[in-house]
Amino acid sequence: MGGEEEARAEPARNTGTDEPFVQIKGVTKKFGDVTAVDNVDLDIQRGELFCLLGGSGCGKTTLLRMLAGFEFPQAGTISIDGIDMSEVPAYERPTNMMFQSYALFPHMSVEKNIAFGLQQDRIPRSEIADRVHDILKLVELQDYKKRKPQQLSGGQRQRVALARALVKEPKLLLLDEPLAALDKKLRKQTQFELANIQEQVGVTFIVVTHDQEEAMTLSTRMAVMNAGRFEQIGTSTEIYEFPQSRFVADFIGSANIFEGRVVEDSADHVRVETDLCEIYINHGQSVAKGSQIWVALRPEKIYLSKNAPEKPGPNQATGMVDDIGYLGDTSIYKIRMDNGLILDVTAPNQIRPMSRTHAITWEDKVYLSWEPASAMLLNS
Ligand code: ATP
Repeated sequence: MGGEEEARAEPARNTGTDEPFVQIKGVTKKFGDVTAVDNVDLDIQRGELFCLLGGSGCGKTTLLRMLAGFEFPQAGTISIDGIDMSEVPAYERPTNMMFQSYALFPHMSVEKNIAFGLQQDRIPRSEIADRVHDILKLVELQDYKKRKPQQLSGGQRQRVALARALVKEPKLLLLDEPLAALDKKLRKQTQFELANIQEQVGVTFIVVTHDQEEAMTLSTRMAVMNAGRFEQIGTSTEIYEFPQSRFVADFIGSANIFEGRVVEDSADHVRVETDLCEIYINHGQSVAKGSQIWVALRPEKIYLSKNAPEKPGPNQATGMVDDIGYLGDTSIYKIRMDNGLILDVTAPNQIRPMSRTHAITWEDKVYLSWEPASAMLLNS
């Protein structure tokens, strides 16, 4: 999967080193009986592109709206650039919001749409002209400034909305599903453009998205939300390679998850007994010997072969090919293991006759193995 490949590259962009620019402390928001945001804490550094990622109804938009000042928490505090926002109304906050719908004025040209907010703020005309000119250049829409929104493509409309939000020079830009209106291919391309623009302007972005691939491509860090709480906060690599819970392991990418018992816990390795095989992990994870635990194994980390391993050992299991899904760049193999469990294994479709997965087909007996660094232990 493309997003997973991207996840393995450390974000090159600035993750910030200053004092937290946005501080969220113990924030709770309830609507009647529904706790939309449940006692969350979060620090975001200046210049970050931070994603709030989660499924429908997990509370991400409510948190974004509290940052914007459209909703107020019942408990906890939010400060932006060192100032407590508890008493600060939306229009006085150093924030701007870009809505999923873009909310462009259909009767106004691109440049008038962008200039509108500055005119409302009574900025001098010559300054407006300069700022609109600069921002059109940034989003590469100079040649489209006289067009109306309906004369633009979806991607161009998205850039007008971004330009209109950025031209007001907010310290913090809040983006609610900014790419949701675009088709999949355009969305992928626009993710990189958005990240590049953010890097150029250096404004702190907080982006709400339900799309894990988008969060991985865009973000310097992300928070994975579930039922109003943060399940895990970290870089794409940390979240993908070291998920801490079954929810995160399953929500970001896909994972084979099974139960086991810790039989050895040393400083540099852990051994876990499962009814699949013995699992040896060579990265230190602090777990008590004897404890029941969950193990996650990503489908792309498993080697598949028709040949038995040279010598038996941990991290090896056998099964039979139950099903194969051809995805073009990769194939997914559903392997029915000897203990009855079905494991997913993905393999790239390289044209290499000697490849280990070459010619593996339905009903074949196969040997699965993985590196000592590949399995992950989950706390919950
Ligand atoms: P989605 O991706 O579907 O927009 P979300 O993660 O952004 O979801 P929120 O919109 O923050 O989720 O909603 C969180 C919970 O709070 C949901 O159960 C929702 O129904 C509820 N909720 C949000 N706003 C209100 C409101 N104004 N009145 C009542 N309930 C609300």
